[in-house]
Amino acid sequence: MLRKALFLDRDGVVNVSPGDGYVLDWRGFRFADGIFEAMKIARERGYALVLVTSQQGVGKGVMTQAALDDIHQRMQSELAAQGIAFDAIEACTHLAGTCDCRKPSPLMIEHAAAGLEIDLAASWLIGDHDRDIQMAANAGVPRTIRVLTHHEPQTAATHTVASTSELPDLLRRVL
Ligand SMILES: [Mg+2]
Ligand SMILES: [Zn+2]
Repeated sequence: MLRKALFLDRDGVVNVSPGDGYVLDWRGFRFADGIFEAMKIARERGYALVLVTSQQGVGKGVMTQAALDDIHQRMQSELAAQGIAFDAIEACTHLAGTCDCRKPSPLMIEHAAAGLEIDLAASWLIGDHDRDIQMAANAGVPRTIRVLTHHEPQTAATHTVASTSELPDLLRRVL
């Protein structure tokens, strides 16, 4: 039987947005307010948890793949302690224009969906950038939540929240 999933963007959703820069190491990674509770609600309601993140800093050479892997291992350890580690982590680390998986391409979602047997039509995505919302549409994920950060919102999402701290209440209502 297919599972439903909650796809989460990383910077600005799971962790506090680094603005236009990159989280270069674990010291620069801070979990966003409310995200543990939000992920617990999704987990309790049967959703697989999938991270879909663009980390072009690797392709640009400002950070290494090993540094990114270290951040994600530590993130997973902290989440596992809460009972909510990601079921899959998809990261596009490539320079824009050099790959097929960069958002808003649906490939990261499609790759995770194939591995975890996900029902995309029953799934949700949370992001803070137009490319996140467009990626969901391109992948056939019909419901989206935008977290307002420094990115200018143009593509309409199903729901919009001013802060990640509003996610638990919203997810309780809609998932
Ligand atoms: Mg983001
Ligand atoms: Zn890519």
